[in-house]
Amino acid sequence: QAKKHAHDNFHFYSDALLEIINSNRQIESQLRLALNNNQLNLVFQPLIGNDQVIGVESLLRWNHAELGQVSPDSFIPVAEESLLICDITSWVLEKSLRTLTGFREYLPELYVSVNISGKDCLDLTKLKTRVIRALEKHQLPGSALKLELTESIFLQNIDDIKILFTELKQLGVRLAIDDFGTGFSSLAYLLNLPLDQIKIDRSFIADIDTDPAKYGVVKGITDIAKSLKIDCLAEGVETQAQKKALERMGCNHFQGYLFSRPLPTNELANLLKLDTPN
Ligand code: C2E
Ligand code: MG
Ligand code: MG
Ligand code: MG
Repeated sequence: QAKKHAHDNFHFYSDALLEIINSNRQIESQLRLALNNNQLNLVFQPLIGNDQVIGVESLLRWNHAELGQVSPDSFIPVAEESLLICDITSWVLEKSLRTLTGFREYLPELYVSVNISGKDCLDLTKLKTRVIRALEKHQLPGSALKLELTESIFLQNIDDIKILFTELKQLGVRLAIDDFGTGFSSLAYLLNLPLDQIKIDRSFIADIDTDPAKYGVVKGITDIAKSLKIDCLAEGVETQAQKKALERMGCNHFQGYLFSRPLPTNELANLLKLDTPN
């Protein structure tokens, strides 16, 4: 009796598991179709430095026929389960640079910041080729591009990653650490990688003007960035009070709804023409 029960349980769990696997497979195949059928698109969020728009981060959106706009937080992890993420990254790189050439009519020095998955770094040669090809195709200098990596990348071979990004840096491509402080943080990589920017995760910024502990932690991060002579950008800045608190600690690169939400191409073009960040 007990044995049979255990057997049923096993089936229950394996069925549930199968269902998850199947639904992820379904998302994956739909996502692949979306990529091929132009149902993925990009929005661009201004990056502010010294009160001006100096760059934009490209953020992926999925226009799903039934579900509407699907958040990248829900489908990027599925794409990362397969090689699909590499095709998505290639598409994002290509489309971001193509769109940037239009924006540079208004701001010739503008750059685009592209999110790179840790899975893209499993084949560094391929990543490098794709980056260089995309730049060449659009006749853009390396300085037109910034790559954002999360700390999950440091689970991989840091030496190879260092070699790749040193090469890309020689072309002018910049490198940022995204969502700083939320991942597998090790301060050692800050000394080892040719970083240009630390992006402090939104979760630290939310209460920065009211919570002394958060203020202290963020102040510490800005001091580290200063010692390393690299930029420090605060993500998710929503209020003037947060901006003031950040400025007091010497952080003057921002991204957040206070300045602008991520915008479709035409709306961003309007904003850049007017050039009136908050
Ligand atoms: P992320 O790279 O940290 O991007 C910043 C996220 O914060 C974006 O969410 C943006 O819309 C949101 N955000 C910006 N300012 C504010 C603010 O003031 N308040 C609040 N509440 N949110 C703000 P989004 O677009 O939903 O993207 C989520 C994550 O998905 C990104 O986080 C990134 O990790 C990933 N992602 C997006 N596009 C791509 C892509 O093309 N490739 C890869 N590999 N990942 C991507
Ligand atoms: Mg990012
Ligand atoms: Mg981020
Ligand atoms: Mg973030």
